[in-house]
Amino acid sequence: MRRTWLALARRLYHTKVLLPLTQGRDELANLHANTQIPKLIGLARLHELTGRRGDADAVDFFWKRVTQHHSYVIGGNGDREYFSAPDSIAAHITEQTCEACASYNMLKMTRHLYSWAPDAAYFDHYERTHLNHILAHQNPRTGMFTYMTPLMSGVAREYSSEDNDFWCCVLSGMESHAKHGDSIYWENGDTLFVNLYIPSTLEWKAAAARLELNTRYPYEGDIELKVRRLATAVYFHVYTDSASDCTRRPDTVAHARRSSLRSSELMLFWILILSILYCLRRRHESSRDCAGLSGLHRRRYGRYQRGSGRRCVAHRFGLLGWR
Ligand SMILES: [Zn+2]
Repeated sequence: MRRTWLALARRLYHTKVLLPLTQGRDELANLHANTQIPKLIGLARLHELTGRRGDADAVDFFWKRVTQHHSYVIGGNGDREYFSAPDSIAAHITEQTCEACASYNMLKMTRHLYSWAPDAAYFDHYERTHLNHILAHQNPRTGMFTYMTPLMSGVAREYSSEDNDFWCCVLSGMESHAKHGDSIYWENGDTLFVNLYIPSTLEWKAAAARLELNTRYPYEGDIELKVRRLATAVYFHVYTDSASDCTRRPDTVAHARRSSLRSSELMLFWILILSILYCLRRRHESSRDCAGLSGLHRRRYGRYQRGSGRRCVAHRFGLLGWR
């Protein structure tokens, strides 16, 4: 049965689009963005089932090209739903930028890539898109959704209506806003990854632990992760994307040494990628012990620029961007 479905999946392989990506060629200009992204998600799943390296390479290349050469400061892509030439988005600041479905699907693809290799760069893009685009996708007063998120100055977002507007982005919006807690934490054996700073409580079965994350990030930089319960003595690792360290005392709340992410205007987008993964190891003796870590995720002003021959720069405060 499995072979049948795999054979069918191969029949659906769109050679014209996927082969250049497998060969490391960006021929995305003038292609409909959100038609291509699910093809790559399918390819990611094929790689997971078959282990074929070329499929993974194509997904990785596509993700890097889209996030680094075709994406706006809010993480979205596409003008009137289409990719333009690489590094030309500054010439495409229009009333029809950033279809929500395209960002939604790029986040899906990001999760595949991160599961193969947990590189912080993946969740830099994920968080930037989540905070700037996905959250802006829904009107919190009415619950209605946008199709596009226009980056052109003075253009208002248009929202769906209860009776007359039901787009693809309404459906992806329903999914997006049921998934805010989807990837805050990931686990791998005795390792816990804290990917997103969203207030939450985690019941972590592998470590028989309950953890609590408190923050008002991104509006404030303070982040606190508390271990509320441990049923057994256990070591575990916590990866965060802020430069942190903790004390060794298992029965007290540990405080991180506050240090900032390094940034440089010359490095532009790569400011975020400079987040350093720190591994924190703690040994907990009993269920009464309470430990944790806290830190300051320093939000700096930065610039985001994609070359196009025009003088166009977006400004950012931390991960929040505006033009
Ligand atoms: Zn859509």
